[in-house]
Amino acid sequence: MKKGKRPQGPTLDFPPPPLSGKDLEAIMNHTAANIRLLGEDTTREGLKDTPRRVAKAMQFLTSGYRTDVDQIIGKALFKAESSDLVIVRDIELFSMCEHHMLPFWGKAHVAYIPNGKIIGLSKIPRIVDAFARRLQVQERLTAQISETLMERLGAMGVAVIIEAVHLCMMMRGVEKQNSYTITSSMLGVFRTDATTRKELLHLLGGLGSVKR
Ligand SMILES: [Zn+2]
Repeated sequence: MKKGKRPQGPTLDFPPPPLSGKDLEAIMNHTAANIRLLGEDTTREGLKDTPRRVAKAMQFLTSGYRTDVDQIIGKALFKAESSDLVIVRDIELFSMCEHHMLPFWGKAHVAYIPNGKIIGLSKIPRIVDAFARRLQVQERLTAQISETLMERLGAMGVAVIIEAVHLCMMMRGVEKQNSYTITSSMLGVFRTDATTRKELLHLLGGLGSVKR
């Protein structure tokens, strides 16, 4: 993987350059080889087109590497009229664990307390997607979202809570169907002030929405 130019901000990885036709073709060839190694026949009807479909799917599922968070935010930063708590809850989230390349999915709840600046609300789910569409661990995903918002908004505090279920735990390994993982990243006043944290959890009305 060639290293791209490091974008502004400490929370972004080095994104690889956009997938070229050549990259996609290489992924198709590797996928076909994998399918053959697993004992299947890549020429049969149902599998004939699978390498191409997998390459396309992987391109989409990792498109976060090629997404510029600052471009998402664009001009959608506005002057804040107050410093009251803002929460966007139950943001659908789909990602892939970096250990098994299997999906994990759930809900993200994002809160912040403005300090002069607010962000267009629709931008928050798009920032979640930009970091979710990569090979991830839930802990890092949570921190990347909160750190990005903290940095770009200069907020008094940012809180991100993610509840997710992991296919690699459900379908293999410990084979647990009913457990889910909660991660949180609290910055600024959410970290230092217990009352603010309590207000957030009260407004969220408890967790477990991934199971509802
Ligand atoms: Zn995993």
